[in-house]
Amino acid sequence: MIKFLDLYKINQNHKLQLVEAFTRVLDSGWYIMGQELKTFEHEFAHYTGVKHCIGVANGLDALVLTIRAYKELGVFKEGDEIIVPSNTYIASILAISANNLVPILLEPNISTYNIDPTLIEAAITSKTVAILPVHLYGQLCEMEEILNIANKYNLKVIEDCAQAHGARNINGKLAGSFGDAAGFSFYPGKNLGALGDAGAITTSDDQLADTLRALLNYGSHIKYQNKYKGVNSRLDELQAALLNVKLKALDDETEIKRKIANRYINEVNNQKIIMPSADVQSAHVWHLFVVRVQNRQEFQEYLTDNNIQTVIHYPIPPHKQEAYRELNDLLFPISEKIHEEAISLPLSNVIDSSDVDHIISILNEY
Ligand SMILES: *Cc1c(COP(=O)(O)O)cnc(C)c1O
Repeated sequence: MIKFLDLYKINQNHKLQLVEAFTRVLDSGWYIMGQELKTFEHEFAHYTGVKHCIGVANGLDALVLTIRAYKELGVFKEGDEIIVPSNTYIASILAISANNLVPILLEPNISTYNIDPTLIEAAITSKTVAILPVHLYGQLCEMEEILNIANKYNLKVIEDCAQAHGARNINGKLAGSFGDAAGFSFYPGKNLGALGDAGAITTSDDQLADTLRALLNYGSHIKYQNKYKGVNSRLDELQAALLNVKLKALDDETEIKRKIANRYINEVNNQKIIMPSADVQSAHVWHLFVVRVQNRQEFQEYLTDNNIQTVIHYPIPPHKQEAYRELNDLLFPISEKIHEEAISLPLSNVIDSSDVDHIISILNEY
């Protein structure tokens, strides 16, 4: 079976350095908020091109705490609205509702799967405080259009970069440096993956960074002095040390994915399979290679029968989830179509070229 994502193989590539990093942390006797975290925050901020990177426990917390920080700073309040794509992974929406703000869902563009900027202005009300674009599957949103609208209406822009580490526009500007703040996930399967949970916020806003540093650590800047009713959402030393190893390889690994994605796009020629589109090469880091087909179940079975493992991202749209009963009656036909037809093919930096050959020929024979 060709695995959808072989995490074992991905991390074996770095085994020596990962073990070294583990040993360094073990032998340091210092396991929370030490030098490894400082180094990672410094390196990732530098990589992204922002002033601050703040490590947190996971990607969801990165988004939850960013919105929370804006509440503590008096920029957002409960009941305010945040515009978010209807076809995102549910975490982007959970981050809004966790803060008692209201998610306003907007349809994506059917060819990029990212939020359709032409729909944003009509959705803005007196309660709108932010836009939360999600660079879905690894492709940058149309940030210029989104930032223009945000400027015009004085809205914050919080990027969900959980799938877009290292995605760049034509000027080389990176995902996580466009908005006021951005949330990253380093969940093991993400393009930059830890060996457990981890996340971070990037921002160039000093005040926001300062507030976030307190919120993630019990609401405290100074030990035993609590300014906020904070949480414990620290990125621990061990994961930071492992991420320091893997960050160095990120761009090279992305380049390998890009080559494979280009092979799929150039060599698969089958009317029944709708391939993804990527105008600017560097703007897509291929966290997922998502195609669309009419009869998805049959297609998935066909691939399974031919030893190709696939995954569906995602089977049920957020507005159809039981958790969002209040949204169940809303209609998002584009989003629903994507959720009915989307299926993700194996794509990673460790997949053999003979496996890619096999996948391409099986797709062409479908
Ligand atoms: C993975 C993901 C998250 C959440 O990250 P975790 O680290 O799993 O909490 C948020 N948004 C998107 C789009 C994601 O893919």
